[in-house]
Amino acid sequence: MDYMEYLSSNSEVIQCKVENALEKYRAEPVGDGYIDIITDFQFVEGFILELTSIGIAINRVTWWCHCYNEKKGCPHGMGGPQSQYNEGWYSELGNDIDVIEISQSSYELLEQEVSLDRVKAINETILNGLIKYSKSERFRDCDTPALWLHVPDEWKRLNTMK
Ligand SMILES: [Zn+2]
Repeated sequence: MDYMEYLSSNSEVIQCKVENALEKYRAEPVGDGYIDIITDFQFVEGFILELTSIGIAINRVTWWCHCYNEKKGCPHGMGGPQSQYNEGWYSELGNDIDVIEISQSSYELLEQEVSLDRVKAINETILNGLIKYSKSERFRDCDTPALWLHVPDEWKRLNTMK
């Protein structure tokens, strides 16, 4: 069974786990799916580790300015949503921040067979890239990552949570 088939055939159980993780780590998806999940740096490591344990790979990272203090030059980006958990709002940044690249072949391997080790390797690469960027001199206080989950296109947020 390949990765996407595995997720689709267990979607109810797995989506519930993802929803619980979103709440636990105060991660805020911008739309009605599982892309652009804005996650505070203090929670991002826990969130990624939990995604790994659920068996969900991350497929890209984009960046948002967490705009809560205009004295620091914010907003750096375009418009965006109010934060559900934090003071202020998020402003979408362009591609001026290095995206963490995962080779397409890593995802092609997932398409051959579900493998927790492969999911773990992808997510560790993402996490290491985030940590590295957060320690670089280009990092700004307001830079906030948003994770895109590698899940079936038809997955939408669950409306009812228990
Ligand atoms: Zn900013």
